[in-house]
Amino acid sequence: MTWPILTALSLAALAALHFWWRGRFARARQAARSEVEALQDEQRRAAQQIQTQQEVLFNSMVEGLLLLDERGRIQLANRAFASLFGVTVDIRGRTLLEAVRLHELAELVSSLDSQKQVLGYELKLSGLSERWLQINAAAIFNGNGERHGTVLVFHELTRLKQLESARQEFVANVSHELRTPLSLIKGYVETLLDGARDKPEVATKFLQTIDRNAERLKLLIEDLLTISELESGRVKLNLQAVTLGPVVAKVFEDFKARADAKSMRLINQAPDLAVRADADRLEQVLGNLIDNAIKYGRAKGTVTVGGSARDDGQVEVFVQDDGPGIPPEALERVFERFYRVDKARSREQGGTGLGLAIVKHIVQGQGGRVWATSEPGIGTTFYFTLAQGTSTLQQPLL
Ligand code: ADP
Repeated sequence: MTWPILTALSLAALAALHFWWRGRFARARQAARSEVEALQDEQRRAAQQIQTQQEVLFNSMVEGLLLLDERGRIQLANRAFASLFGVTVDIRGRTLLEAVRLHELAELVSSLDSQKQVLGYELKLSGLSERWLQINAAAIFNGNGERHGTVLVFHELTRLKQLESARQEFVANVSHELRTPLSLIKGYVETLLDGARDKPEVATKFLQTIDRNAERLKLLIEDLLTISELESGRVKLNLQAVTLGPVVAKVFEDFKARADAKSMRLINQAPDLAVRADADRLEQVLGNLIDNAIKYGRAKGTVTVGGSARDDGQVEVFVQDDGPGIPPEALERVFERFYRVDKARSREQGGTGLGLAIVKHIVQGQGGRVWATSEPGIGTTFYFTLAQGTSTLQQPLL
């Protein structure tokens, strides 16, 4: 009787042990699984963090960046690349040709085939306005020396190209402007030396021409020095409260003889309003504008200078003539260096082509704006703004 009881007890104990082990094993397995899952989660989070950091880094680059895989398909294109090429959709997975339709780029990438160094290339994009890009491209190789992909970096070159061409144009213009009066002076001096000096009336005429051209050279060099001084950024402005009316009266005084010679009337409507300006530079601005109004205005015409305070705390000054005017397409260009509506007329009047460029520099240097309006046949009005004057004295740099 005892044996069956003992056997039943042993079986029950064995069964209990078995279930206890199974429970423990299942708990251990569950714990291990959770640990693995937690590790995987952490890895995923770390990978995602790295990817986000990379994206932030690539998207904060000023340069455009493009990464192609071994089949030439786009793996990554940063924000700067998208804005350089006007891309608004996700181009990952596309080829360069599909994404931006530029054969030169596709050719550049295939020309890298066996190249191990970085290739530089300048790309001109013609569209509404011409643009230039500098591209540096390099093939990526894996450990076995097989091509793994391509990386391309794009720099915007347009501004540099524009500056370079403006510089070249300026040097060419200056040389031309200097050469013309110099050649004339040389020609007349040679003619005088060849015998013309013995004919007094001819000699006097030649000497007057030489004098006029020497004067032109002097004015041109003075204006060039002013421009270079203003552009150097080293010019100190003595900004202070200046009363407009008396400054205009003073400049009119300087130009009275010139106006009389053309029977022109100078009308001062400038109020006794204080503007915040450098008095000498303000005289220079008014001088250039009044000089032009007399030069290009009609004989027996009128030049009026006035101004008024605006609601935004600025004072708007105008210089108006009733001359032949400026065609609408030239109204902005007249502020460019050496731009003239009528070259011959400007030269004949002794113009250097730099007066309005100097005006613009000075006005902008004092925080103002300058512009012109004109009705051909009726006249031209030049406007510029200045801050209203206070009694504070300041000396910032231009
Ligand atoms: P310039 O020495 O030739 O006068 P500016 O820079 O002062 O050079 O002026 C540029 C051009 O703008 C002039 O050559 C002229 O064609 C035009 N211009 C300037 N002021 C006037 C004006 N008041 N009326 C008509 N044309 C003007």
